[in-house]
Amino acid sequence: MINSLLIANRGEIACRIIRTARAMGIRTVAVYSDADAEALHVRMADEAVHIGPSPARESYLVGEKIIAAAKATGAEAVHPGYGFLSENAEFAQAVLDAGLVWVGPKPSSITAMGLKDAAKKLMAEAGVPVTPGYMGDNQDPAFLANQAAEIGYPVLIKAVAGGGGKGMRKVDDAADFIDALASCQREAAASFGNDHVLIEKYILSPRHIEVQIFGDTHGHVVHLFERDCSLQRRHQKVIEEAPAPGMSAETREALCAAAVRAGQAVDYVGAGTIEFIADGSEGLRADRIWFMEMNTRLQVEHPVTEEITGVDLVEWQLRVASGEPLPLAQDELEIRGWAMEARLYAEDPATGFLPSTGTLDVLMLPLSSRVDTGIEEGSEVSPFYDPMIAKVITAGGQREEAIDYLRQELSTLGVWPVKTNAGFLYRLLGDEDFRNGDVDTGLIERRGEALMANPLPPADELTAAAERLEADGDHAPAELAGFRLNRAPSRERALRINGQRTCFEADARANGYVASHFETIDGGSALLMVHEGATMLVTADRTDGAAGSAAGDGAILSPMPGKIIAVDVAQGDTVVKGQKLLTLEAMKMEHSLTAPFDGVVAELNAEAGAQVQVEALLVRIEAAE
Ligand code: ADP
Ligand code: ADP
Ligand code: MG
Repeated sequence: MINSLLIANRGEIACRIIRTARAMGIRTVAVYSDADAEALHVRMADEAVHIGPSPARESYLVGEKIIAAAKATGAEAVHPGYGFLSENAEFAQAVLDAGLVWVGPKPSSITAMGLKDAAKKLMAEAGVPVTPGYMGDNQDPAFLANQAAEIGYPVLIKAVAGGGGKGMRKVDDAADFIDALASCQREAAASFGNDHVLIEKYILSPRHIEVQIFGDTHGHVVHLFERDCSLQRRHQKVIEEAPAPGMSAETREALCAAAVRAGQAVDYVGAGTIEFIADGSEGLRADRIWFMEMNTRLQVEHPVTEEITGVDLVEWQLRVASGEPLPLAQDELEIRGWAMEARLYAEDPATGFLPSTGTLDVLMLPLSSRVDTGIEEGSEVSPFYDPMIAKVITAGGQREEAIDYLRQELSTLGVWPVKTNAGFLYRLLGDEDFRNGDVDTGLIERRGEALMANPLPPADELTAAAERLEADGDHAPAELAGFRLNRAPSRERALRINGQRTCFEADARANGYVASHFETIDGGSALLMVHEGATMLVTADRTDGAAGSAAGDGAILSPMPGKIIAVDVAQGDTVVKGQKLLTLEAMKMEHSLTAPFDGVVAELNAEAGAQVQVEALLVRIEAAE
């Protein structure tokens, strides 16, 4: 067994690998860039070596620096994780040439599967059904257009060197083919330095089903069953599960046997994944599942396989790399229960999933389920790398249990001020078709906006939040004009949620329970509320009622301490209800303050760049006559 291991990666996967290596008594060496100097993987490892500036091209992608770090620390082996250099055959060879152990397949296997066209040809020869299409060398546009017509629309143009869901164009109509081809080639050249494409039949009702395989240096190849990764956004996996819903024993046997044949055809050693695309229009049938590509590394979603098989795949990787035979034979492997994984990203569904970077002032991850992560509260989500915060993994005896458990874990996780997709994931897991196992890769797109917006917490929770804020802040209840007589049964109240004034009816059922809360900066009192995966900042609304200004007098007070970043009105301006007056940056978020009614800007105490205290009078609007 190897005694020491360098992990040529960062984030959750570096931490995941270190965890198993440590348990096996293997000394671990981390590498890190400038941005990762304080990162969790650096602190978890026994030793760490700085390998350069933050951009991956100058650090995590520089093979020589990584090999030099291994030499300098006396590490015996290199584990590449996923992404970065994991599927780079030249790097694998350089590691071997340096006299180190490569925790991965032979460089020749990586090369054989590296380009999608060559891989498909090889697989077809090995008797593995491949997605119908053209995978030859002729790249003449007119010729390719003819091929597309022959295959039959819709077709998918794919960069042969593509990955990560990039370099693909679906074409529905012959008239669009030439333009789509040119755009796909441009993207392929820019992203992968190779503009060759292949044309595939676009499979209808597509389901992404993949098989985990494992080979050793003694000629054994086994499979560890399938995963279903059909919940995708822009060809990228969002939620993964194992096993696949609706998979019959016969189809599973045929599919997994094909995956093992694929591995044997390239002398596969270590962990690998054979990805298939299935036409799920009539259930999963062996004659409607085709090879798509092979990933010659550990996969992001490997935990769901670990959960249903009880195998630690990283342990197997390290044993196999040390020359040991596979710990279990095929007939000793079985599926137990069901597992689900959700990828929690620092991204904002409301803005088209733009990455959301910054410091994680609050990070409350689930405590009872498996969470694979590489960051902690106080860490930075930097713009340099993939914005994944964590993978949340649950298991259950039945599929529904795994779904419900995952949904519950997502519903209560809190992240602030970085935005996440947790609310989106929560709603997705509640989708009826998904719950019925009726999945395909177009589901997320079909649901569209319905999955994007975070709902408000229910009135009893808002009431409890308002009461908590009043108790903390020593303020009179923020009631609205016209409802001051406490007319039963309801009173209208208001709060600021992420800076936005939000009215709701007080609910007598409020029991003082607020999902989560914390005290904010500068003596200002605020709560963080978590509802169905969305974290929101809640402050008292002081524009009416409270803090000395008569209700409805049009006084706009700063809801939080912060900095004014833009003023959109001048004194004397006429404004209409809802018009934006100024933008305040507080708690690292921008908040728009708007006019409560039509009127005139009677008073303006706001200047761009100025720092303001909570409750400072910024603007006073006088109602129009
Ligand atoms: P998985 O099936 O394991 O999710 P992905 O294809 O999504 O695999 O890729 C895993 C990781 O590798 C991700 O971090 C992704 O961003 C990265 N990745 C995959 N292919 C490429 C590529 N060609 N160039 C850069 N990064 C890639
Ligand atoms: P990448 O290297 O980017 O992972 P893949 O070939 O694995 O590329 O394809 C990524 C995703 O695109 C698949 O998971 C699937 O959802 C979709 N896809 C790929 N090929 C087809 C096809 N022929 N028909 C329908 N969908 C496809
Ligand atoms: Mg793929």
